[in-house]
Amino acid sequence: PDSIIERDAHHAVQEAIADPDKIVIVSTSPSVRVALGEAFGLEPGTFVEGKMVALLRALGVDYVLDTNFAADLTIVEEASELIERVTSGNAPLPQFTSCCPGWVKFAELYYPELLPNLSTAKSPIGMQGPTIKTYFAKQKNLDPRKIVNVALTPCTAKKFEIEREEMCASVDYHGIPGMRDMDLVITTRELARWAKEAGIDFHSLPDASYDDIMGRASGAGVIFGNTGGVMEAALRTAYEYLTGTPAPEALYDLQPVRGYDGIREATLHVGEHELNVAVVYGTANARTLIERVKNGGKQYHFIEVMACPGGCIGGGGQPKDLLKDADQIRQSRISGLYARDASLTVRKSHENPDIKLVYEQFYGQPLSEMAEKMLHTIYTDRSNTLHVRGEHIMKKWKCKV
Ligand code: SF4
Repeated sequence: PDSIIERDAHHAVQEAIADPDKIVIVSTSPSVRVALGEAFGLEPGTFVEGKMVALLRALGVDYVLDTNFAADLTIVEEASELIERVTSGNAPLPQFTSCCPGWVKFAELYYPELLPNLSTAKSPIGMQGPTIKTYFAKQKNLDPRKIVNVALTPCTAKKFEIEREEMCASVDYHGIPGMRDMDLVITTRELARWAKEAGIDFHSLPDASYDDIMGRASGAGVIFGNTGGVMEAALRTAYEYLTGTPAPEALYDLQPVRGYDGIREATLHVGEHELNVAVVYGTANARTLIERVKNGGKQYHFIEVMACPGGCIGGGGQPKDLLKDADQIRQSRISGLYARDASLTVRKSHENPDIKLVYEQFYGQPLSEMAEKMLHTIYTDRSNTLHVRGEHIMKKWKCKV
């Protein structure tokens, strides 16, 4: 069933584009731009951001925005929350990242006792949606009821995430019943299929740029797509917030959390604090680390968990080439994002001029009342559904329950 949903999603976007009463806005996730080219014969890791934006415009999208902008927003909120936990002790440590819906669902099902440890910050797509339907709509004088928000992602789990009950902060803001923050998700593979169906020659597209206000990102937002990227990005901001001094060079190439091993760790001195951090991908690795945490060994402060191998660059909606080595492909995509980060002058989320503007004009400051309402969320203990599902499977196989 998932593959049917995946195959059909871009048709819903096409219908919205064909409706003159709708305003279609597509926001692009960090790792799509280093994988989309593979669907058109380019080498894995080729950075095709400009062509990806041009393709979306050629397909008739009204505005193209960058989810990397919201990755910066997530970092600012999540780093501020980490500092709160470390300095005030009013919430448990370690803080776990919460941007991966695969990991969040896994925690809700198997480790509900850890839910208070999950950062309350929404994922970048979770933040992009309500920010478009409130701030962006206001700045551009758009009717939020007409906006169809589409997330272009590497991730099939995002199709579940946008349906979560809590993902409707813009309803409270506008008082419009039924409004969703993000309306549709299409994957990298679906976009490639759509382009081929439309007969567009990807290679001949001239590079295009994002629309303004929510189309600019820092290098920290870019590396969000790599395993370890969220951690490195958050530490650049947390360091400066905590110490009031510039982040050291090491935080622009944090080798212990980079790479492709399933579990990586580092200890950092941040002002008077010594922070133990860890990065994992894959639920088997997550289980190993969680058991380590629960058995009370080392005190960790911050743990990044991503469900897919290598992080979002290895998401289930990315192009697949069964003739090539999957690990090699993922590592090339990882290198593509790190190279892009290294090429940018703004490499810290809180220094992104568009992020400064959205706080000045709309959110006030990180963790403000408005930011909490729109950019933070809650989690649900779903462990009892495991039981129900287990019974269902037993009945299906005619077992006695
Ligand atoms: Fe989605 Fe995988 Fe990224 Fe998690 S790691 S957000 S499941 S693509």
